[in-house]
Amino acid sequence: MDYQDTYTQELFDLLFKGKKRELPKTVVDDIKGLYIAAESKDLLSPIVELFKKLLNFAQKDNISPISFGLSKDDLDALAKKHAQLDEHHVTVGGRVFRALKIVDQANERVKYYMENKDIVAPSGIELWEQILKNKERIKKALNISEEEFNTYHGQIKNVIQDVETLAKVIDLPEKAFSDISRVTKKYRMRLTPYYASLIMPNKLDDPVLIQCVPTGEMVDNVGIEIPPVAADHSPARLIDQFYPRVLTIKSTNMCAMYCTHCLRIAHIGKKDRIYKKEAYEEAIDYIRKNENIRDVLITGGDAFVLPNKLIKWILNELDKIDHVKVKRLGTRIPVTTPQRIDNELLDILEESNDKKPLRVVTQINTAQEITPVSQKAFKNISKRVMAVLNQAVLLKGVNDSKEKMWKLCEVIQEAYVRPYYIFNCSFRNPQFAHLRVPIEVGQDIVEGMYGNLSGDAIPRYIATAGGKVPLHRSNIIGRDNGNIILKKPWSGEEVRYPDANEKEYKNRGFSFFKYKK
Ligand SMILES: *Cc1c(COP(=O)(O)O)cnc(C)c1O
Ligand code: SF4
Repeated sequence: MDYQDTYTQELFDLLFKGKKRELPKTVVDDIKGLYIAAESKDLLSPIVELFKKLLNFAQKDNISPISFGLSKDDLDALAKKHAQLDEHHVTVGGRVFRALKIVDQANERVKYYMENKDIVAPSGIELWEQILKNKERIKKALNISEEEFNTYHGQIKNVIQDVETLAKVIDLPEKAFSDISRVTKKYRMRLTPYYASLIMPNKLDDPVLIQCVPTGEMVDNVGIEIPPVAADHSPARLIDQFYPRVLTIKSTNMCAMYCTHCLRIAHIGKKDRIYKKEAYEEAIDYIRKNENIRDVLITGGDAFVLPNKLIKWILNELDKIDHVKVKRLGTRIPVTTPQRIDNELLDILEESNDKKPLRVVTQINTAQEITPVSQKAFKNISKRVMAVLNQAVLLKGVNDSKEKMWKLCEVIQEAYVRPYYIFNCSFRNPQFAHLRVPIEVGQDIVEGMYGNLSGDAIPRYIATAGGKVPLHRSNIIGRDNGNIILKKPWSGEEVRYPDANEKEYKNRGFSFFKYKK
């Protein structure tokens, strides 16, 4: 066994290059004490500690081990003992000289993150006490009992959809309320009392507030509206299909909460609609007749606003089709209204997952949205399905920094959810242009995760551009006039994707900030 490998030889050379010096007795005694422990105990840590200290003396003050009465032979015996005792025969030089240094350097990389993440991006678990206070305030303002607040029915019954109710629940500048009423003539606003309780009071840049309460920009950012029905992507009733083997059933136009950054806002429409049974039957028929289709994503709106019976029926119909091998349900309800996740629903999920793998795909954009309640909902779901995956949207002021996005990925993983995608906020709906983030900001955030987060806490960074196109630097062919030129991996087709406006992005007087006096 080569305990004097090159690292250890280098270490010894460095140690004994130093000079013999007179040192205070306490300093010498400290090292001698360590040496005795290193020699007498069958442990590695005193040996490592001794070598670390000796290395420090040599490197800082050019002091040789001789100063402590330790000879080369003494240390050689310890080096041998270290490699013999270690289960993997790691040498003392390898450990002290290399491994510990690498760990120190690695720690340096996450130092800023570790010091700031809980300040910049507290989770809903960390903010729980304040959220409970918010909840009490909201219950009182809207006259909701504790029992009602804790049921889905109670949440939906007391949903906040107009300025008057909103004003009872959150404190905003006068101008904001008049803008909100302007917006709600064109776009819907809806938040549940639970989701409203996640908003921190008197905080104009609250990341939950930005996601659910619209600001004047939503109507001011007029531009080309996307057509309400994606006729070019819908080969059959309720179906959207870009890909040969994966498609979506847009099962409802309803959500428990409407996001200010919703890409589907045009599908959501102005009114809740209950779809006819025949619509679902025709969608299933299309899937049944097209044998290429392997993976079916039931989305909306929000799939969990559908009644349990209907969810059960759709899943069962899909499970009966041989060529459908996997299924997905798209929902934000565990975040916006976790009270919905009842045992009946969980049983339905498990029953279908037993037949063929079922995933639940959700959208969480900030660590603040993970509370003890939503965490429990996700834990319960994750026990019954193959996986719970998150699709976050990169949003200005919400999650556009390493601290916020890394923290999000870690906190959701701790809530049994796996980061799946991060979408660059799309250019197609001008109403949320003020929330867009430049491509490169997202690249820095996501690429910075490698080596610093667990591999399965790292999502893929994606642009929605006629299918999901990766935004890795290597997939960007060029830039032109504020656009990036991307390549669709599956066809080689080039797509132009307008980047966020850099100047607009740097303008911090947006959303609720602009109401600051
Ligand atoms: C997102 C989406 C899918 C699913 O894409 P994956 O990359 O498999 O997650 C399928 N069809 C449509 C229309 C979509 O928007
Ligand atoms: S939950 Fe999804 S579909 Fe519903 S409003 Fe939010 S982004 Fe749009």
